[in-house]
Amino acid sequence: MSNSEYMSLEEVAEMLGVTYQLIYRLVRAGELPAIRLGKLYRVSRTDLNRYLERNKSATAQGGVCSVCGTLYKTRESLKQTCQAEGCEEPICFDCWTRLGVRYCSKHQAKMA
Ligand SMILES: [Zn+2]
Ligand SMILES: [Zn+2]
Repeated sequence: MSNSEYMSLEEVAEMLGVTYQLIYRLVRAGELPAIRLGKLYRVSRTDLNRYLERNKSATAQGGVCSVCGTLYKTRESLKQTCQAEGCEEPICFDCWTRLGVRYCSKHQAKMA
């Protein structure tokens, strides 16, 4: 466990309990600020905390799709949940209808 200011995407994913792919997508989408060192992305703890804070307040009314990581302002677009037993991870309208996704990113990895 390193205490440096910058974390790899793997470390961020592990810390948040999500997949590397989700974090990578957030970075590529510009949702989560990251700097590039050679081929690798690094996320600063400051930016990560800011991102989490922003998501926390957003989750009060809306939420983040567990599949694509898109932030929705209302629960309207996040009515579906992961079909794995006991999992309540939200799945957005877009992922559910257009992509046919039925499981959150964590469970998708297990099903694949
Ligand atoms: Zn989605
Ligand atoms: Zn799930």
